[in-house]
Amino acid sequence: MGRIVLVTGGNRGIGAAIARAFLAAGDTVAVASRSGEAPEGCHGFVCDVSDTASVEACFDAVERDLGPVEVAVANAGITRDGLIMRMSDDDIDAVLNTNLFGALRVSRRAAKGMLRLRRGRIIFIGSVVGLLGSAGQTNYAAAKAALVGLARSLAREVGGRGITVNVIAPGFVETDMTAELPEERRAQIIAGVPLGRYAQPEEVADVATFLASPAAGYITGAVVPVDGGLGMGH
Ligand code: NDP
Repeated sequence: MGRIVLVTGGNRGIGAAIARAFLAAGDTVAVASRSGEAPEGCHGFVCDVSDTASVEACFDAVERDLGPVEVAVANAGITRDGLIMRMSDDDIDAVLNTNLFGALRVSRRAAKGMLRLRRGRIIFIGSVVGLLGSAGQTNYAAAKAALVGLARSLAREVGGRGITVNVIAPGFVETDMTAELPEERRAQIIAGVPLGRYAQPEEVADVATFLASPAAGYITGAVVPVDGGLGMGH
C-alpha cells in the first residue's frame, strides 16, 4: 500500500514473516535488528532495541533513506528461561530491557513521527504467556503482560491523531526461539493447543498486516490472540 513499515527483529522468525507480508502488500519495509540480513527486497538497518541511542539513530536513518514510518511493529524479543530461584539479575534485566523497554523505546520514537503525520499503526508482538502465565518464564511473561498496559495507555494517548495501537499475542510459533525447546516440552505444549500444532510465522504476519490495513481502522487497544486456542479468552 506504499507505506513505510518498520519491523524490529525482522531478520528471522516471526519478524521476517511480517516484513515479507508487508512487502507483498506493496509497502516499503525497513527491518531493524542487531545482526543478520533483511529478507530480500526489505531494507536492513542496524538497531539494538535495548539501547535508546541505537533506536533513535535507526529511526533517523529510516526517515532519511525511506521516509516517515507509518507502521511500526515492535517484534524484537528474547527469552532467558529458568525457575525464579535460579534466575539471575542479568536474565531479568536482559529480557525486560529487550522485550518491554525496547518496545517502549520503539513505540515512543514511532509515535513522534506518526503524531506529525496524524496517522499510523503501532503493533506490539506480545505472547499468550503474558496473560496465561508460564512456569519458568517469569521474566518473559512479566514483560509480555506489561506490553498490554503499554499498548492500551498509548492507544488512549494517540487515538485522537488517527493512530491505532494493538498487541498480537501469539501462542507457540515455529521459529529459532521455540526450536530450543526439548521434544518432551514441545509435545506437552501441543497437547494443550486445541488446534494441535504450532503456528507458522506467516499466520502471525497475516494478523499484523490486517491490523495495519484500512479494514482494521477502528481497532485499537486490542489484544489479538494467534494461539490455536491455547489462551482461550485470556
Ligand atoms: P527469534 O529468536 O527467531 O528472533 C528474534 C528476533 O529479535 C531476531 O530478529 C533478533 O535479531 C531480534 N532481536 C533480539 N534482540 C534484539 C535487540 N536487542 N535489538 C534488536 N533486535 C533484537 O524469535 P521469534 O521470531 O520467535 O520471536 C519474535 C517475537 O515474537 C518475540 O517478541 C517473541 O517474544 C514473540 N513470540 C514468539 C513466540 C514463538 O513461539 N516463537 C510466541 C509468542 C511470542 P538479532 O538477534 O539479529 O538482533
